[in-house]
Amino acid sequence: MTIFSKIIDGSIPSKKIYEDDQFLAFLDISQASKGHTLIIPKDPTISVLTAKPDVVADINVLAQRLAKHYVEHLNAQGVNIITNANPIAGQTVDHYHVHVIPRYKEDELEFKTKDQQLDLDSVHKEILESFK
Ligand code: AMP
Repeated sequence: MTIFSKIIDGSIPSKKIYEDDQFLAFLDISQASKGHTLIIPKDPTISVLTAKPDVVADINVLAQRLAKHYVEHLNAQGVNIITNANPIAGQTVDHYHVHVIPRYKEDELEFKTKDQQLDLDSVHKEILESFK
């Protein structure tokens, strides 16, 4: 049982933002920016890699709804919607969750990738081959 299952059953408190039969949204205890919210499915699955496609679709529609709300009502100028799958990608809780992180001019957050200088042609070829 993960900490998020305990949040769902109420044995651990959370700052709930939204709840329906399928999902719970609550404030991340560590606010990357004002309103940083986690959305979790009530039926637990480890990550986006194990979730059913309709759950992935619905959780992202909900993420969009919250994101638009934060832009309209919290004065956010943008949003990052991200999910981490597996420890290599930074996942620390093994219960699928989507981060909705409202962005503000003054938040000083950085989500930057680094150019690994890979050969684009060979990467493209390897991926196309992998689909065969
Ligand atoms: P990740 O690193 O993508 O697995 O995200 C897990 C998130 O869960 C982190 O941003 C934590 O701050 C957050 N978190 C952990 N425990 C709690 C909790 N009890 N209530 C709210 N958020 C939590």
